[in-house]
Amino acid sequence: MDLAALIRTIPDFPKPGIQFRDVTTLLLDPHGFGQTVARLSAQAPAGIDLVAGIEARGFVFASAIARELGRGLLLIRKDGKLPGATVGVDYALEYGTDRIEMHADACVPGQRVWLIDDLIATGGTASAAVRLIREAGGVVAGAGFVIDLSDLGGAARLLNDGVPVATLVAFAGY
Ligand code: AMP
Repeated sequence: MDLAALIRTIPDFPKPGIQFRDVTTLLLDPHGFGQTVARLSAQAPAGIDLVAGIEARGFVFASAIARELGRGLLLIRKDGKLPGATVGVDYALEYGTDRIEMHADACVPGQRVWLIDDLIATGGTASAAVRLIREAGGVVAGAGFVIDLSDLGGAARLLNDGVPVATLVAFAGY
């Protein structure tokens, strides 16, 4: 099954020059969604305790993968959304900064976490999530993405940081 064919590309969203890779069309296809979850789950690192998803599209895939693998789900959220005591990491965007947070007690130190998001581009978001999980005492066993914008080097950046990367579909360019 060709998963790339189920991902819609919307040019110039959210700004000129960006080719937005829209996974909502993939999610609408039950076989496509099922295959995505099955194929990523098959690449899970050995011995993971938790699957972590990055808000918001990462939640969709991470939750299904966590169920597939029979593991708990750790939510990595945008600033100010979580009710309990949090740990957070600020990271640079093209203009300005952003912040992601998780509950400070969401993982027991030493637990092995598999990080999931829909797409990796520059790797800035995923690298921040890696720092966050490590700050909370978790071990990042790897990271998985449906889409790799391979020209942007995010997967290489994570590998360089000691995080093995699994991806399903690669697109060239932005
Ligand atoms: P980055 O931090 O540069 O790796 O960007 C990854 C995050 O931004 C992911 O959470 C993606 O959902 C989103 N993203 C970046 N570029 C795109 C794109 N071309 N199409 C869809 N989502 C994108």
